[in-house]
Amino acid sequence: MANRITDVEIIPFEVSLENAGTDENGFNIIYQPETVMDRWLFAVRIHTADGEVGEYVNIGGFGNNGPTLAQIRMMTEYLLGKDPLRRERHWSELQRGFRKYDRFGIGTIDIALWDLAGKTYGASISELLGSYRETLPAYASTYMGDENGGLDSPEAYADFAEDCLDLGFLAFKMHGWGPQGTGDRDIDREIATVHALGDRVGDEMDLMLDPACEYETWADALQVGRACDEQSFYWYEDPYRDGGVSQHGHKQLHERLDTPLLQGEYLHSLELNADFIASGATDFARADPEYDGGITGAMKIANVAEGLGLDIEYHGAGPAQRHCMAATRNTNYYELGIVHPRAAGTRDLPVYQDSYQDALTSIDSDGTVPVPTEPGLGVTYDWDYIKEHQIET
Ligand SMILES: [Mg+2]
Repeated sequence: MANRITDVEIIPFEVSLENAGTDENGFNIIYQPETVMDRWLFAVRIHTADGEVGEYVNIGGFGNNGPTLAQIRMMTEYLLGKDPLRRERHWSELQRGFRKYDRFGIGTIDIALWDLAGKTYGASISELLGSYRETLPAYASTYMGDENGGLDSPEAYADFAEDCLDLGFLAFKMHGWGPQGTGDRDIDREIATVHALGDRVGDEMDLMLDPACEYETWADALQVGRACDEQSFYWYEDPYRDGGVSQHGHKQLHERLDTPLLQGEYLHSLELNADFIASGATDFARADPEYDGGITGAMKIANVAEGLGLDIEYHGAGPAQRHCMAATRNTNYYELGIVHPRAAGTRDLPVYQDSYQDALTSIDSDGTVPVPTEPGLGVTYDWDYIKEHQIET
């Protein structure tokens, strides 16, 4: 008789981020000296009748993960009594069942089910997927800009890029300032930073720019994109306030720029991503196992990109991303972030009991990070820490 899911344990908990706070609107994490920012994350443990446990700590949430957690609570009822190995079936049923929502909850559930499958078969997730590579070239992905003595000028970004080059990074991605609630469009500072980075390290590093949809107009996006062209940037990602989802707007940008576009972080479905890629509105495809229906969903987007002769770049740092990238030919860089010269990395979390880490110093001299090799996700979570920091919701 097939194994059955008997319990879905959900543990919300708090972590502190040193020297970090939010900008005026509260939507961007920025450097804030002598400030401790509390963030809450959550862990999920799926228990089975055979006594196995599939585990995952959701790490992509910003400050408050409430909406995703609410979906997972609703999904628990569906999962109880089901065969944990039928991931493709559960993915499909939950995609349908949660079609009125962003479906973020599926990501965490699916990753925990892959962890469980790996433990069942005694293989890491990338082995189950079919391993392509054992090390992952990484880029340093920065905090958003601040006005607090951190990343507060074009020179500060160029200095940090040089530090990252010295650490071994092969590539560097800037998240800039945006209007920060003032409504002032200081697009000149963004352009100056693109040039400062290109002039300082452009010959030695691949450079990317991700305004995270901060620019207020398409015209600003075009102007900054032209600076990226002059400095031969590797990609230009989610520039403006359409939220990264307008096919028409990005096709118009694509026609006018040489720098490849990278879109898709905010399209939370296989089909929307496939349409966006096929229409020529992006050059690189994007997927995140937490946002896009787990490892099952992210690998489907990777396969769409492969079939259309394009590359996929996985969003964010974490063990699930490492396994997806390890099993993908058509991909280039691991996003190690979010990092800052003086603040803690946002995914450098105290939840791992083993050597797993996503910190600025986690790369080796070749600029790569390793892929966990133990069964499942291949990480050992520190349940004592997580349970000590558990919070009520
Ligand atoms: Mg992004």
